[in-house]
Amino acid sequence: MKQSVLVVNCGSSSLKLALFDENENELASAKAERLNETDAFAGIDGDNLTIALPAGASHRQALQALVTALRERQLMTDAPASVGHRVVHGGETFREAVLVNNSVIKGINRCAGLAPLHNPVNIAGIEATGELFPDTPQVAVFDTAYHQTLAPRAYLYALPEAYYRDWSVRRYGFHGISHFFMANEAARRLGKTPATTSIISAHLGNGCSICAIKDGLSVDTSMGLTPLEGLVMGTRSGDVDPGLFEYLSTQGVSLKEVHKVLNHESGLLGISGQTNDMRTLCDLADHGHEPSALAIEIFCFRLAKYVGAMMASLSHLDALVFTGGIGENSSRVRKKTLSHLGLLGFNLDTDMNEHHGGYTDGRIDTADSRFPVLVIPTNEELVIAREARRLATSI
Ligand code: AMP
Repeated sequence: MKQSVLVVNCGSSSLKLALFDENENELASAKAERLNETDAFAGIDGDNLTIALPAGASHRQALQALVTALRERQLMTDAPASVGHRVVHGGETFREAVLVNNSVIKGINRCAGLAPLHNPVNIAGIEATGELFPDTPQVAVFDTAYHQTLAPRAYLYALPEAYYRDWSVRRYGFHGISHFFMANEAARRLGKTPATTSIISAHLGNGCSICAIKDGLSVDTSMGLTPLEGLVMGTRSGDVDPGLFEYLSTQGVSLKEVHKVLNHESGLLGISGQTNDMRTLCDLADHGHEPSALAIEIFCFRLAKYVGAMMASLSHLDALVFTGGIGENSSRVRKKTLSHLGLLGFNLDTDMNEHHGGYTDGRIDTADSRFPVLVIPTNEELVIAREARRLATSI
């Protein structure tokens, strides 16, 4: 237990914890949801007892309650040897994971304008952890950092350059922790080293992004200044014509309303009018609900177009990799997406696709497919735990 690593993932209204031992086994995981609301709740995974939280509980209160519960159940008997935090936005300041100190907290705070819902709660998580475990080194692992290898041609928008210089307007990319895991895990499964492996990684969960990875490094990705750009997502629109804003303002729709609609009422939910959940959408489509079938169709077509776009950054491709709740589980989405890409030579093995690559270490392509296609479960917590341990032991 002495060498355990605690991973803290503070979302805008949630908090997730994962505790790993020195052999990277997950000892426990726990989460709190609906934080800052009247019906906040928390629990330890695999444990039926809910943990009492005061109404409107903050991230700090939730962290204290969860750590107390882990200790009471003997799941955490000592202070962890290190703590790793997922931090959403590292701007251009943080190109890799760092040990937390006061100047790092200030740096995360300076990036908060780019992620106002996330960076402040990430700092709250760091400060609360520091109070609970004052002698334990803490490490910040950034969702944007992996994409700091993008070249200007990939990260600059075609805007007046003062927008970048004065206001840091550029593409940052997100889901970097998951794409980094894919780069390493795909290389391992293909019997190669990450530094010689080039893949396209499609992270398809409630949020979705795709990343071109050349010789282990991110060279292009679909999310931009914010996690709104790119693919169709659960409730986010992904790409729209920026002319939409001016047009909708002439229809009396405020900027605030457009922002809300594009982030929370669009994507699969907006098109189907029913749900952002891909499982439910598939059921509805199977029962003849046409808007749900259309939502899946648009989701897959946009994804296929982006797979093609990511090719522009690569000189060879070792694999296309699917991950995230949808990417790992929906054979239908994978099949439909690749049905648009026959021209590029992707060929799916129907049986392996149905079994999510379970037979063959993730492979779902046929022997004559021009490129391997893999299904790999993501494990962002493990990446954060590894970074926390690596940096903490370097002190
Ligand atoms: P995540 O954000 O990675 O947890 O992914 C959430 C998404 O994965 C939701 O749209 C779920 O409906 C989808 N998902 C999870 N399991 C399945 C499944 N068996 N088939 C299709 N979609 C799934």
